[in-house]
Amino acid sequence: PRVIFSGIQPTGIPHLGNYLGALRNWVDLQNASRDTSDELYFSIVGYHAITMPQNPSRLRTERSEMMATLLAIGLDPQRCTIFHQDHVAEHTELAWILNCLASFGKLHRMTTWKAKLATARNVSDSTDVDDKDLSLGLFAYPVLQAADILLYKATHVPVGEDQIQHLELSRDLADVYNRRFKRTFPLPAHIITPTKRVLSLRDPTSKMSKSAPDANSRILLTDTPEEVRRKVRKAVTDAEVKLSYQPDQRPGVSNLLAILAALKSQTAPGTVEMENAGPEEWAERLNQEISESGASLGQHLKATLTDAVVETLRPIQAELERLRKDPGYLTEMEQLGKQKAQTVARRTMSQVRKSIGLE
Ligand code: ATP
Ligand code: MG
Repeated sequence: PRVIFSGIQPTGIPHLGNYLGALRNWVDLQNASRDTSDELYFSIVGYHAITMPQNPSRLRTERSEMMATLLAIGLDPQRCTIFHQDHVAEHTELAWILNCLASFGKLHRMTTWKAKLATARNVSDSTDVDDKDLSLGLFAYPVLQAADILLYKATHVPVGEDQIQHLELSRDLADVYNRRFKRTFPLPAHIITPTKRVLSLRDPTSKMSKSAPDANSRILLTDTPEEVRRKVRKAVTDAEVKLSYQPDQRPGVSNLLAILAALKSQTAPGTVEMENAGPEEWAERLNQEISESGASLGQHLKATLTDAVVETLRPIQAELERLRKDPGYLTEMEQLGKQKAQTVARRTMSQVRKSIGLE
C-alpha cells in the first residue's frame, strides 16, 4: 500500500482552483482507500506560510479555518492523518538535517524561487531588489517540503505541475541520505492530479490564485450564491456565437467549460461518478440547449456554471457552519492529528539521529 502525503498553506480561504486541483482529490484518495489501503497524511503547513510575512493573529485564524475547511470538504480524521505541520517539531529537525545535504546550487535552480524573486522585483518596482530581500526560509522552502514528505516515508505525493521540480529535489535528497547514511527513505513518486490548472476569471492567461489582487478573479469556497453569481457574471468570455472548448484561442470560455465539467464530474462519497462529460461535450450540450431555448450563449453558460458552483459549495458551507459552532470538536481533531503524526515522525527521527551519529 502507498503512503501519501500532501500539504496546503494556511494563507487564506481555498478557492475553486485549490479545491478542484488539490483538495477534492484528497477526498477521492480517502474514499478509494477502503480498497487501496493507502495511508494518508494531509498537513496544514504553517512553517511554509511564514516563509512570507504573515500577520500573527490572522495566521492563527487561517490555521484553524483551514482545519475546518479540510473537515468540511469531507476529509475524515479517523481515516486520514490531518494535522498542523507546526504541531510536529520533527519537521524542522529533519529539514535542518536535509539542509545540510542540499546544495546551494540546486536550490538556486528551483523555478518557484526564481518566480518569487521576479515578483519581489515587480512589486517593489525597482531593479535593486534581489535575493537579499527574501528570507533564507523561503530559499529553503523545498527542503522543508522534502522533510514533510520523508518524515512519514511517503511513497506518493499528489502535486500540481508547478511542484514537480520540488518533488524531484525530495527524491534527490532521499537518495543522497540513503547512500550517505543508511537506506531509510523510499523515493517519493508523484501523483498528478487529474484537473488541470483552473484559471483566473478575470485574466484567463494566469492561474486562479489566493494572492492575486483582484478578488473577482477567484471563487472562494465560502462565497455566497450571490457572490458566485456576480463573479461568474463578470468572468471574461468572448463574443462568438457558439461555445467551443479551445483553451488557446478562447481561454475565457474554455476555462468556464473546464470548471463546469470538473464540477459535474464530482464523485459523491460511496457513489459512482454521476457524469463524465468533458468540456467539449459540455460545449456541445449547451449549444444544443441554446438553439432550443433561444437564450444567449454566454448567459446560458454562466447560469449553468453558477448553479453547478452553488450546488458544490452548499454542503461544504453547511458543514463549515456546523463546525464553526463546535470549536471543541475542532481542537479535539487537531489533537488527534497531532498525536498520529507525531508517533510516526518521532519514530523516523529516532532512526535518523542514530544513523547520522547524533544518538
Ligand atoms: P498562493 O497564490 O498564495 O500561492 P495558491 O492559490 O497557489 O496560493 P497554494 O496553497 O499555493 O494556493 O496551493 C495549494 C494547492 O492548490 C496546491 O496543490 C496547488 O498546486 C493547488 N492549486 C493552486 N492554485 C491552483 C489552480 N489555479 N488550479 C489548480 N490547482 C491549484
Ligand atoms: Mg501557490
